[in-house]
Amino acid sequence: MSWEYGSIIFIYGMVVGSFLNVCIYRLPLEKSVIHPRSGCPACGYLLPWYDNIPLFSWLWLRGRCRSCRQAIAVLYPLVELAAGLLALQVVNRFGLSWQSLWIVLLGFAFLVLMVIDFYHYILPDLITLPGIVLGLVVAGLSVETPPLATLESALIGVAAGGGGLWLFAYLFEKITGKVGMGMGDIKLLAMIGAWMGWQSLPLTLFAAGLMGSVVGISWMVISGRDRSQPIPFGPYLVLGAWLYLFYGQEIYRWYLS
Ligand SMILES: [Zn+2]
Repeated sequence: MSWEYGSIIFIYGMVVGSFLNVCIYRLPLEKSVIHPRSGCPACGYLLPWYDNIPLFSWLWLRGRCRSCRQAIAVLYPLVELAAGLLALQVVNRFGLSWQSLWIVLLGFAFLVLMVIDFYHYILPDLITLPGIVLGLVVAGLSVETPPLATLESALIGVAAGGGGLWLFAYLFEKITGKVGMGMGDIKLLAMIGAWMGWQSLPLTLFAAGLMGSVVGISWMVISGRDRSQPIPFGPYLVLGAWLYLFYGQEIYRWYLS
């Protein structure tokens, strides 16, 4: 990919990232993501276009509101940067294609889910449920284009993702006596199944469990927090699924040989 194409895709990704920030901020508060225009959460100052340029406005204003000088969370430019890099990574791997467009869209949804779950311990139905439906539609539209699923494998994926994780959560609760996963995680796994097929689920769950345990245990050791502290599982499921999307075929081939 030439650098001209690359920069255009990166900039498009960051512009959408700016909208993803609005979703991340407003969805947990159950506010509209369209109205009103973006403003400073502290003083209500409505952002003119030049204060709303992804990444650069934050850098230019050195992370503070122009009006009240209140600090603007570093999360916002980070999400924009992540969205730009994500778009670049997908197009770099899957080319300029319909498939890439769908995968970028999925990546954006993943990014929003991940950040919201990290801060609020929820995975909004407003994203996961349409996510399941859209995954099935895309599977129905495209013919045999891994890593996206065929319709058959997507349908099995939804059933296995939803049902499989429910079983996992049930057993976890039986064995440890505490709630490990919420319904949100189960819907997210059904969504992953819808997009990438049932084949993606073992690796996604394994990688998520591994990353979640490593981070969770390290966090307990470092912070001295007790085990009853909830750990959001959504971000790890998302990372596991993303790993499968890019390296799943290779990992399975390596594992089977
Ligand atoms: Zn302000």
